[in-house]
Order: sequence, then C-alpha cells, then structure tokens
Amino acid sequence: MNNKEIIDLDSKYIMQTYGRQPIALTHGNGATIWDADGNEYLDFFAGIAVNVLGQSHPKVIEAIQKQAEKLIHVSNVYYTEEQVKLAKKLAEITIFDRIFFANSGAEANEGAIKLARKFTGKGEIIATNNSFHGRTLVTVTATGQDKYKEPFKPLPSGFIHVPFGDSKAIANAITDDTAAVLIEAIQGEGGIVVPPKMYLKEVEAICREKGVLFILDEVQTGFGRTGEMFAYELFGIKPDIMTIAKALGNGYPIGGLLARSEVAEGFDYGDHGSTFGGNPLGCAVALTVIETIKDENLLENSKNLGNYLKNEFINLNEKYDFITDVRGFGLFLAIELDRDSSEITNKMRERGFLINSTAGNVLRFAPPLIITKEEIDKMILALDQVFSEI
Ligand SMILES: *Cc1c(COP(=O)(O)O)cnc(C)c1O
Repeated sequence: MNNKEIIDLDSKYIMQTYGRQPIALTHGNGATIWDADGNEYLDFFAGIAVNVLGQSHPKVIEAIQKQAEKLIHVSNVYYTEEQVKLAKKLAEITIFDRIFFANSGAEANEGAIKLARKFTGKGEIIATNNSFHGRTLVTVTATGQDKYKEPFKPLPSGFIHVPFGDSKAIANAITDDTAAVLIEAIQGEGGIVVPPKMYLKEVEAICREKGVLFILDEVQTGFGRTGEMFAYELFGIKPDIMTIAKALGNGYPIGGLLARSEVAEGFDYGDHGSTFGGNPLGCAVALTVIETIKDENLLENSKNLGNYLKNEFINLNEKYDFITDVRGFGLFLAIELDRDSSEITNKMRERGFLINSTAGNVLRFAPPLIITKEEIDKMILALDQVFSEI
C-alpha cells in the first residue's frame, strides 16, 4: 500500500483523534525512516522521545527475537526472571527501591496517584498549568491544559493547578488534605518548558517540610533524553515517586512507577494490578535498552551532541527575528517562534526531516540518542533553508 491508500483506510476505519502528518511509515534503520511511497526521512522526533536507540537496533531485535522464542506473556499471576532483573536494574540505576510495572505513561501516573493517596490517606494532588500527564480520566484531569479535558466532564475530583515554575504557589496550595505534588521535570508536550533553576529543589524542600509526597513525571525526560539518565539528576533532587514509560522499551509499550521502600509499602496485596504490565517480552527489551544506553555511551552522546545542536539553534536564533527562544537539555530541545510552528514542521518533512510542533508555536527536537553529528548537520542546513524562506 502507498501513503494515500493507507491514509484513506485510516480515515474510514480509525477513530479520528489524531492530527497526523500525511505519511505512512514502513521501516527504518537508526535515525533513518522510510514511508510507503519510498521517501526517506531523518528522524528528529523518535516517536515522541521513545526510540532512544533508533529503529532496527540489532540489540533490540535480538532481545525481542530471543524472548519471543521463550515467553511473551504470562500475567502477574506468576513470577518471571525478566521482570525481577529489570526491576533490580532500575533500582540500581536510580534512587528508588521498588517498581510497579505498567504499560504506558498515563498508567504509570495513574498508579502514582493511587499510591500517593493510599500512602498518605489524603486526596488532593497539586499539579501545574501547561503540564501533560496522560489521557485517562484521572491523568487528563491532572494535566494542566483545559482543551484535553473540557469535553469529558464530570472529571475526578481532588486536583488543583498552580503556575509551573512558581514554588510559592505550591506552598500556598498545600492543605491538610494534600497527598502529593505531581510535576514534570521539564514540560514536554507543553513545549519543553524548563523551570527556573532552583524550582524543583524548592518544591522538594516544601514537600519535605509539609509532609507531602513529591511525584516526578519523567515519562518523557527519562533514559538519557536530557543528557542524564533521569532529569532529577540534572536538577539535583530526590522525588519520592517517579514515573517512567516512553523510552524505557524503545517502542515496546512499558512503563512504571518507582518509589523508595517506605512509600512503596503504601500498596498492599490487591491494591493495584495490570494484566500486561511488566510482561517478560517488555522487560527483556527494556533491560536491553538500559544496558545499550550504557554500552554505547549514549548519555555522553545526548550531552555532547545536545550541546552542539543547541549551539546551532542559538546561531539560528541570532539570524532570525521570528525565533523567540531556544531551550532544553541534551537531545531534548525546543525552538520557540513568534508564530505557529506547524508550517515549518511540514516544510521540513517535505525536505526529508521529521521534527515536531507542540504547544502551538514550538518546534520540538527529540532525536534518537544514536544520532550522529553528520545527521545533525544535514538537519540544521535544511532548517536554515526553511527558515530563510519565511
Ligand atoms: C507522553 C507522556 C505521558 C503519557 O504517556 P502515554 O504513554 O501516552 O500514556 C505522561 N506524562 C508525560 C510527561 C508524557 O510526556
């Protein structure tokens, strides 16, 4: 099938909830992806910051093949070696002791909210404006953007929103019924919004002082995206609960919520569960993803090439008046414009580069962490040309 045939079937058989780019992707290798008409693209979006190892990584293929020959799924009625190995690895590479495995970011946040309420015996969750935490009814309610939740009222109660970046607003919003503060380290869908330097440290201190749990949503920032394995390292903080998903499985759907032992013990037998969560195939892949990030020095690549790319963006910022900001860490970068950004995303796609528009006027860049300097140079050249035509 070609692009048009696939898109026609989508418009007939799929619920029309997505504003998709008008191409159907067929296969890829590293940071290169092809569409159903045979066009080639360099991928600077990685399936929404998911494919840290790019497409067709030999280690990922091998992990899937080997595990598929043994066990794909058994449910959580039984133990598997793959699940405990991944849990142990996550405990080793983080400040947390225990994990609950889910299948997606929304489910990870849903579980974190349940754990916070169970552990504290309190109901209220404080989240921030412009945030994104998922599309289930609870996580869309936690999300600080009205457009995602207005049509779905009545919404679950117990959620309060305050401006992002304002720690005093959090201190003021905390009441005797506050269970937790839920924050993204860097707001991803919101436009790669980086908080003031001390914000997360201040939030941590406020949470400690008032006996409130600090839940950090690292669904988009986790696994090397920002140049550190996790963004909490970047900001020097120790949240009580952290949620992960996107990059963990490099495309295999797996997520989870991590906590220190004393908080994790808030969940008793029967309190939470998932049929697919932490199945052996997902865990085998995720373990390989984490090991490969380390083996291939991808944190270094994210840091170094991230700095390189950001500097190139800063040069573009000096050249073009319509650029209003350049921000981000590692290979998680944004160019903010004084206008809608979708036209530029379209023009870049026509030239063979996949980038993303978010928050209306922001260009979001989240390439696979295996991206090379040569690939970045090609993209910058095209972006400069597209910008020069505006
Ligand atoms: C993508 C995202 C989610 C939701 O993840 P899904 O896997 O789509 O449910 C939650 N939080 C953040 C910060 C995200 O970027």
